[in-house]
Amino acid sequence: MELFGNPIKKIAILCSGGDGPGMNAAIRAVARTALMSGFQVDGIMRGYAGLLNEEIIPLNHRSVSNIISRGGTILKTARCPEFATDAGKEKAYQILKKYNIDALVIIGGDGSYRGAARLLELYNFPVVGLPGTIDNDLNGTDQTIGCHTAVNTALDAIDKIRDTAHSMERIFIVEVMGNKSGYIALEVALGAGAEDVIVPERKFDYERMCREVREGHKKGKISWVIVVAEGAGKGHEIANTITTMTGFETRFVVLGHIQRGGTPTGQDRILATRLGVAAVELIKKGTFGKAVGIAQDEIFLTDLKDATRKEFKHLDEYYRLVKLLT
Ligand code: ADP
Repeated sequence: MELFGNPIKKIAILCSGGDGPGMNAAIRAVARTALMSGFQVDGIMRGYAGLLNEEIIPLNHRSVSNIISRGGTILKTARCPEFATDAGKEKAYQILKKYNIDALVIIGGDGSYRGAARLLELYNFPVVGLPGTIDNDLNGTDQTIGCHTAVNTALDAIDKIRDTAHSMERIFIVEVMGNKSGYIALEVALGAGAEDVIVPERKFDYERMCREVREGHKKGKISWVIVVAEGAGKGHEIANTITTMTGFETRFVVLGHIQRGGTPTGQDRILATRLGVAAVELIKKGTFGKAVGIAQDEIFLTDLKDATRKEFKHLDEYYRLVKLLT
């Protein structure tokens, strides 16, 4: 959608859905680029929920000082079932008008993009999306903001688990985040040198794995780290099944929300900064309805409605390599 004679005076920014490291760097980039371009800038607290509650605050250059290195999001984030209804979106539109907000930058995942796409569709409201999710499961970008940090955080934890697994001669099942996507699990399994990986996208063969554990043990192997994506099934059951089938003590660890927090890596900060600046450049040109991503290290635009969930493109390759190197 092209808007001629760009009438945009005020841009608002919100984070929506799950938080991820690097969202602050994106907020900073959007706010500062917009301010330097002569726009007024508002921050909307708590995503679409905060929009419906009118939690809207003006941002200036200093509001985003010293946040590039901080995990989480200074604007907070939330899920908001009310916004998914037509009445919720109508209310949101009226509030955007009331606050003289002319364009909205949404930092979030697939659900947040769908909400933004509907605002555009129903009210022709100018929206631009930035991919903020640790799951790296969005079309239109090679990487989402937060996934690099989340993988590194999980690797750091698994390296520690490996030490105890090896010392105690145990099998550890380690559950990592990733919603319905096996992306984090596969990256982490490959990077940690895990013995196996269980992801929601592929059926898992317990018989085969238990046979490999027994055969490995005969050859002197004493520890196993098996990475499980949260969407792949119940880790406790998997651990019990392995104990029953192999007779080896198996422990289950959920890494959980530590993967969402922490200092964003350089890669996430730089990605968020490039995408944030690009989002404002788009608004200046009067181009809306796009998700801003990165492909082959260049800024890449996708219609928001098409920037939905995708399968990790190297899934089979990673899966194969994990097994090859055990
Ligand atoms: P993420 O953006 O990380 O995928 P969710 O799927 O929870 O997170 O979506 C975040 C929010 O986006 C939801 O709480 C809801 O307010 C809004 N949303 C999700 N799906 C839709 C939809 N189909 N239409 C409108 N809004 C939606």
